[in-house]
Amino acid sequence: MDSVWIDGVPSPAACLTGEAEADVAVVGAGITGAVTALRLAEAGLKVAVLEARSAGEGNTGRSTGNLYATVSTGLATLRDKWDDEEARLATAARAAAIDWIEETANRLGIDCGLRRVPLHQCVLNAGSTAHEQLRREHEAAEALGLPAEWGDAVPGWPLSPAAVHTLSRQAHFNPYRFVAGLMAALRERGVALYEHSRVVDIDASEGLVITREGRVRARHIVLATHTPAGFNALQAEMEVYREYGVAAPLEGEGPSDASVWVKDGKHSVRTHEQGGRRYIVMVGEKHKTGEGDEHADYFGRLRDFGRRHFRLGEFTHAWSAQQYTSGDGLPYIGRSAHDNVLIATGMGADGLTWGTVAGAVIERLVKGDEDALTRLLTPRRFTPVKSAKSFVAENTTVTKHMVGDRVEALRSDEGLADVPLGGGRVLRLDGETCAVHRTRDGRYVALSPVCPHMGCHVKWNQSEQSWDCPCHGSRFDTEGQVIEGPALTGLERRQVNR
Ligand SMILES: Cc1cc2nc3c(=O)[nH]c(=O)nc-3n(C[C@H](O)[C@H](O)[C@H](O)COP(=O)(O)OP(=O)(O)OC[C@H]3O[C@@H](n4cnc5c(N)ncnc54)[C@H](O)[C@@H]3O)c2cc1C
Repeated sequence: MDSVWIDGVPSPAACLTGEAEADVAVVGAGITGAVTALRLAEAGLKVAVLEARSAGEGNTGRSTGNLYATVSTGLATLRDKWDDEEARLATAARAAAIDWIEETANRLGIDCGLRRVPLHQCVLNAGSTAHEQLRREHEAAEALGLPAEWGDAVPGWPLSPAAVHTLSRQAHFNPYRFVAGLMAALRERGVALYEHSRVVDIDASEGLVITREGRVRARHIVLATHTPAGFNALQAEMEVYREYGVAAPLEGEGPSDASVWVKDGKHSVRTHEQGGRRYIVMVGEKHKTGEGDEHADYFGRLRDFGRRHFRLGEFTHAWSAQQYTSGDGLPYIGRSAHDNVLIATGMGADGLTWGTVAGAVIERLVKGDEDALTRLLTPRRFTPVKSAKSFVAENTTVTKHMVGDRVEALRSDEGLADVPLGGGRVLRLDGETCAVHRTRDGRYVALSPVCPHMGCHVKWNQSEQSWDCPCHGSRFDTEGQVIEGPALTGLERRQVNR
């Protein structure tokens, strides 16, 4: 089972071999990379896109597909950190990005099921902290001029909320199909597209992005890799989370088209139509990457929530994805420490819209323009007061895992026999610390537990059968290959002597 959005739309592109040149090398073909590449190509620049896997199959193809002018951490929180002029600039940029997606889908004939729908944020329990926060959220939206209404029902939905804050004319779509459509448009415009081409090194001073089999020389490099590939000081300011999604077809008529956030359960729910069937899509059960509970059934909890509220057929899809939240509530989009390397990260659970904003911001910067928005979102901003809690929290996480996990491994007296079938453990074997996975047919695969990004120890992720780094979110498959995150290379193989 995988994401409901990745439904076999093909976008085959060759792997990069040899040398190529471009004005701009865009690394990563999620929504950020695809939008950026299209905008730059349509502005007349020579663009090359390098994607480690297939376009859209990163977090974009594993999101909820909601588009909204607000932010999921709340406008009230944003107003606590930024003044109203800055918050208005952010929400206006997000609203404009949704319009751009709609216009672009229409102009290019992309069949991505985009619909204008209300976004209802509700609480099911009266008098809770979440109820009070929702009231503040409504006031913040009104103060910033968003189309907000307050009520006590989600029309056409089988929920009995205590309070509902609604934003009209937001949208939802199939994000994977949108990216697949952008890739087709890029191909038609002669853009060089390379898939299965993981960038393993970046030489900013030479303007080079390097894969195992080739390299691209470019005047500008855009790291549209969700978190910057390789080391970046901003990684110390971001928190990294995993979140889960499930989908099932609706039986009977089902609720009206809408996106709904149940704030006291922290679930995001929406309708979706595909192949003549209507589905309910549910996302939630967030936890810090590398800190999940091995025994928790995150998918099961989402399914239970769905069955409690809707008449559903068999669950057809289940997936998970990652998010990086910034320290001060706004994403980091723009020039990195190197003038010729641009990044877009820290977009939290709002990156379909922020990634689209990033395309516009990066186009402006590449053309040599600046404005209030590029200045607001610059990764070079220094916001210690706004970010303080997150910075301290995140570096407590890093210290805990860098030091604590090593001590824990040294103290552990577990051996190979303690690794369950289909499970993983970090163990001491012949005096060496190893990350050991035991396959379902009993074979042991031992790897170095040291994440090549910054040296933290990886943790076993039972739900997703992967090794996850709790420090900055790098993830590796059971063979040690990079799945995602800032690490450029995989975990080293270790010998198991039995
Ligand atoms: C469960 C969940 C639900 C979400 N729902 C929503 C939502 O409804 N609305 C919303 O706005 N946001 C949502 N988000 C957030 C959103 O999914 C992301 O912020 C957004 O997809 C980021 O897009 P991106 O293009 O920057 O990253 P990605 O889509 O992850 O694309 C990055 C690409 O870079 C490639 N890459 C990485 N490293 C390399 C390398 N070294 N070389 C080459 N290529 C590389 C990856 O393979 C990937 O394809 C959700 C997040 C989660 C976790």
